Amino acid sequence: KKKNPNEPEFIQAATEVLTSLEPVIQANPQYEENGILERITEPERQIMFRVSWVDDQGKVQVNRGYRVQFNSAIGPYKGGLRLHPSVNLGIIKFLGFEQIFKNSLTGLPIGGGKGGSDFDPKGKSDREIMAFCQSFMTELYRHIGPDTDVPAGDIGTGAREIGYMFGQYKRIRNAFEGVLTGKGLTYGGSLARTQATGYGLLYFTNAMLRKNGIELKGKTVVISGAGNVAIYAAEKAMELGAKVVTMSDSTGWVYDPDGIDLAAIKEIKEVKRDRLTAYKAYRPNSEYHEGRGVWSIKCDVALPCATQNELLEEDAKALVANGVIAVAEGANMPTTIEATKILQDAGVLFAPGKAANAGGVATSALEMSQNSERLSWSFEEVDAKLKGIMENIFKNADEAAEKYGHAKNYVVGANIAGFVKVADAMLAQGVI
Ligand code: NDP
Repeated sequence: KKKNPNEPEFIQAATEVLTSLEPVIQANPQYEENGILERITEPERQIMFRVSWVDDQGKVQVNRGYRVQFNSAIGPYKGGLRLHPSVNLGIIKFLGFEQIFKNSLTGLPIGGGKGGSDFDPKGKSDREIMAFCQSFMTELYRHIGPDTDVPAGDIGTGAREIGYMFGQYKRIRNAFEGVLTGKGLTYGGSLARTQATGYGLLYFTNAMLRKNGIELKGKTVVISGAGNVAIYAAEKAMELGAKVVTMSDSTGWVYDPDGIDLAAIKEIKEVKRDRLTAYKAYRPNSEYHEGRGVWSIKCDVALPCATQNELLEEDAKALVANGVIAVAEGANMPTTIEATKILQDAGVLFAPGKAANAGGVATSALEMSQNSERLSWSFEEVDAKLKGIMENIFKNADEAAEKYGHAKNYVVGANIAGFVKVADAMLAQGVI
């Protein structure tokens, strides 16, 4: 805390991870002897830079860009770029730290990193977005590369932004290479990447429920968010026979007791880039509410898929009172430490984001493989690999939890399973 004042999100993430690693640290004194915990919580490199661009009124705008290259013990840094006005160093550090363990859990050779900017893409014209992305990449390009650091999308960074950034990188470097993932399908993107995080969340949730003798089919699911993760989580949940009754965005939420009309959500969010207030025109029987509130709806499964710290203590209490069976995090750290404790103490199956939402980065790593091979795999091939990876993550987290005396505590299990591989690689590579 002394070393990182004003970084509450990073302190929160590090506290959560370090606390749950206690059993593995006790059993393996070599980690402590070699300063693994001190080193793993200090980024290998942090880059902060000016991003200036000209808006449609001809005015100069200045944003701050970030790339935190946290840990490269098991592979090139990998993690998304977040474009949101709330972005600051502490948030990027928390995300980069989580990414180390998540990437390790996928079983693929990728290190941890994260980046972004306090730029707000909302309400900007296409030209303004392009101007920002080109300026951002004009600095970032010197720090990244297909074998060094491979950024991806995150909140505010979708296919459009990745396209503009990729174009600028290619132009500066004069090299067509897999330096970003989440690319469009015509220039090196992977099929199923768009769906991967949401689908993967459901593959994980399904594996967790099954292990506990529960079927997803017929269950009522509450989802927050209406972005990339939320939409494809809803799609797969419906495909698996569940009923999704809520979605939300940064201004409000919808409750549709008959089941969300996903085609309408996709049109509103993916095509029109509009607010959820527009949903009522498609479904007159639905309810729209300002502010937050999806967790007040009775459900069997809750999937927070919007942003960090969006499921609070009182939300956890409401979910428990309404008989929730499972909570699985599609977003990164959406549940506060206090809320997580309430859920776990009440016996709710809790899937932490670093395990449950790892499908996105796993598929990004598959995109890197396809780029290296100069080949594209079919949707079915990628989706099948994704499913296998998610089931394997669940199995590893489940087994690690059991091995260290915390059966069914998937937070502990995921942290330990993700940590051990990175820690062992750091030990083998010496004090660096
Ligand atoms: P999007 O930008 O596509 O969607 C985010 C959604 O959450 C939007 O509906 C947005 O509302 C809402 N939202 C964003 N910020 C806030 C806020 N401060 N308060 C309330 N609502 C908010 O992002 P993604 O779906 O890609 O990401 C969602 C979460 O999942 C993030 O935590 C991200 O880090 C995580 N994640 C994403 C992965 C991916 O592959 N995309 C992979 C792993 C994790 P509005 O529509 O109004 O903008």
